[in-house]
Amino acid sequence: MCGVFGIHGHDEAANIAYLGLHALQHRGQESAGLVAVDDGRLRRHASMGLVSDAFSRDTLSRLPGSTAIGHVRYSTAGSSELRNAQPFVFEYAGGQLAIAHNGNIVNANELRAELDASGSIFQTSSDTEVIVHLMAKAREPDVLGKLQAALRRVRGAYSLVCLTHDAKMIGVRDPNGFRPLVIGRLKDAFVLSSETCSFDLVEAEFIREVEPGEIVVIDKGGMTSHRLVDTAAPTFCVFEHVYFARPDSFLNGRSVYRAREQLGMRLAQESPVAADVVIPVPDSGVPAAIGYANESKIPFEMGLIRSHYVGRTFIEPQDSIRHFGVRLKLSVVRQIVDGKRVVVVDDSLVRGTTSRKIVKMLRNAGAREVHLRISAPPTTHPCFYGIDTPTRSELVAASHTIEEIGRYVTCDSIAYLSHAGMMSAIAAPEKNETGAGYCSACFTGKYPVALGTSELVQLRRARV
Ligand code: AMP
Repeated sequence: MCGVFGIHGHDEAANIAYLGLHALQHRGQESAGLVAVDDGRLRRHASMGLVSDAFSRDTLSRLPGSTAIGHVRYSTAGSSELRNAQPFVFEYAGGQLAIAHNGNIVNANELRAELDASGSIFQTSSDTEVIVHLMAKAREPDVLGKLQAALRRVRGAYSLVCLTHDAKMIGVRDPNGFRPLVIGRLKDAFVLSSETCSFDLVEAEFIREVEPGEIVVIDKGGMTSHRLVDTAAPTFCVFEHVYFARPDSFLNGRSVYRAREQLGMRLAQESPVAADVVIPVPDSGVPAAIGYANESKIPFEMGLIRSHYVGRTFIEPQDSIRHFGVRLKLSVVRQIVDGKRVVVVDDSLVRGTTSRKIVKMLRNAGAREVHLRISAPPTTHPCFYGIDTPTRSELVAASHTIEEIGRYVTCDSIAYLSHAGMMSAIAAPEKNETGAGYCSACFTGKYPVALGTSELVQLRRARV
């Protein structure tokens, strides 16, 4: 869970990249960083926290140059600390290189052990650094060759934006294309970003996606396309559509908002219920709840209000306080739910703690019945390709039936969307409902790229 951004050939590169990171803030709130190149020198600023806190006018003014890349981080591998903040800058025989990574490398531990044994000294605990050391060891003469050689050894999810000392900006997507990466134009400048919503903010025009297994190199001469592997086998992450991406983005040519609305419509077709009001769990559940309400002809209301000022609280990790955390984030509009039969729509149910708390809050506010509808299938497996999910033993659907989950969250009825229903809402119309071309391992346990030893051990150890 990270966001990457880059701009090549713009007088205000750092400022534009800073704005781009703002639009990607939902992809990671732990740290933010920018690297700009000027006169053959890379300059970097990175800090813990939100984009608005990480940079000031002063820090941005110290990042001159017409090309810059940036990163917002939410750690899925490596701990949350400044040394893991990206982009990383490193020196190799060919010069300096900066790298920003979204995704998760599944054979990072194995590669790291091998690199450690051959004398590489790691500066961070991030899986991204493995790519850097593999590049440093590669014999190929130029940066493109080194990157290709390194990435051919890496397995898993990576959407990368890199920057060289001679102002080449490079975008790469792994052969499965797990995470998004899009190309845009802003006047004469090229822009790379995790999501199209950042193009709207900086007024860039969307050109196309970086294809799975493609490397694009952008320099003074324009953009060239190269292959990382001959054949790609796309398995784009369905959870980007379900929860993670911003609703005003397009993924795979599909509006995230419209797909979520469709998820809600399908859910209403599959699991209708007699009720007086449909309310979303904001923010991510809103479009699906609108779809559910439209399809079921039950009025839509904002029965839950989200505070946007809470952020991540330091108390979050402790289970006892997690419950409190939900109340800090969400509150009930009593007038909407009092005496009503309420359908509450959320995009996903992970541990079940949020839903349990919400049901209790709704009942305390007078709801007569609470029917929980989830616009995705049960989350039974952790993601190892870059979405932050707890271990398998913490996923309530890994060890409980839907009825048991319903009892745990104390709702009057519970229903999830079917896998086929989800795929028909997400996939482009010409695709079928089988899920081909997508990764839905979190719902099926079918991992399209072989996992590493530590992931396999975690799955095996799960008490489910
Ligand atoms: P839980 O209490 O663990 O069941 O959390 C479910 C809630 O977390 C839902 O409202 C989801 O929208 C949200 N959610 C789902 N996946 C994630 C994630 N990877 N990180 C943060 N929140 C998530």
